[in-house]
Amino acid sequence: MKSIFLLSLNKLKKILAFIDRDDKMIIALNNKCNFKIEEFLTYQQELNKIVDNNLIVLCPTSLYLSVAKLDNIKLGAQNTSCTKEGAYTGEISASQLKSLNVEYCIVGHSERRKNQKESNEEIKEKITRLLEENITPILCVGETKEEREKKQVEQILREELAILNDINDKERIIIAYEPIWSIGTGLIPSNTEIKEVINLIKTNYPSNKVLYGGSANEKNIDELKKIREIDGYLIGGMSLHPEKIQEFLQKLKK
Ligand code: PEP
Repeated sequence: MKSIFLLSLNKLKKILAFIDRDDKMIIALNNKCNFKIEEFLTYQQELNKIVDNNLIVLCPTSLYLSVAKLDNIKLGAQNTSCTKEGAYTGEISASQLKSLNVEYCIVGHSERRKNQKESNEEIKEKITRLLEENITPILCVGETKEEREKKQVEQILREELAILNDINDKERIIIAYEPIWSIGTGLIPSNTEIKEVINLIKTNYPSNKVLYGGSANEKNIDELKKIREIDGYLIGGMSLHPEKIQEFLQKLKK
C-alpha cells in the first residue's frame, strides 16, 4: 500500500514538474552595452520588485555579472570565449562565468556575427565550452531583410543551426529566432511569418525551446502571444526599462 502511494506521489511530482516547466515562458533580457555601474544598481533594484512566474534571465554587460544580486531572476551572460581559461587576453571563459553563478549565455547574436565577424565554427566552440560548464546557451539565428526578400530564410537557418548536429546535448540549447532586420528597428514579421520559422526550427529540433527576438515589447506582446509555438522572448531595447518589462509580463499573463 505504502509503495503504491509513493509510486503515485512520484508520478504526481513528475507531472507537476512537467506542467510547471512547460507553462513557463523564458524571458531573456539582453542589456547589451548599456548602463554605468550606478545606473545598473538602481535598475537591478527595480527589476527585483518584479514578481512573475515565468523564467526571467538577465544578461547584463559582463562587467556587472559579479555585482548582480537578483531575487527571482536568473543570471545570463552576453558572450563567452571559445577557449578555456588561460593565456587569452581580454577573454572571459565559460568556467569564469560559472564561478559567478551564470546559468545562461547568449551566443551568436547578430551584432557579434556582424561586428566581431563571429563564424558558425566559433559559435559552436562557445556552445561546447558552455555545455561543459553546464551553462545553457541561447543561440541566436535569423535572416537579414535581403535574405528574406530572396526567400533564403530556410537556407540561412539551416546553415546557422547545422552546428548543432554533432553536439550531443543539443536539446539543452535554447534557440532564439531573431530576424536581423527586426532587431532594434520596431519592425516585426507577421505572426504567420514568425510561426512558419518557429515551426521549421521545431520540426528539425523538436526538443529545443525556441524564443522570438526582434523589437518585442509591451505594445506588441498582445499580438505576439497569439503564436502558441513561441516558448519565450529575447528582448533588447525594452530590457532597459523595468516598468515596461512589468507591463509586458502582465499582458503575457492575460
Ligand atoms: C536583441 O538584440 O536581441 C533584440 C531582440 O533587440 P530588440 O528587442 O531591441 O530588437
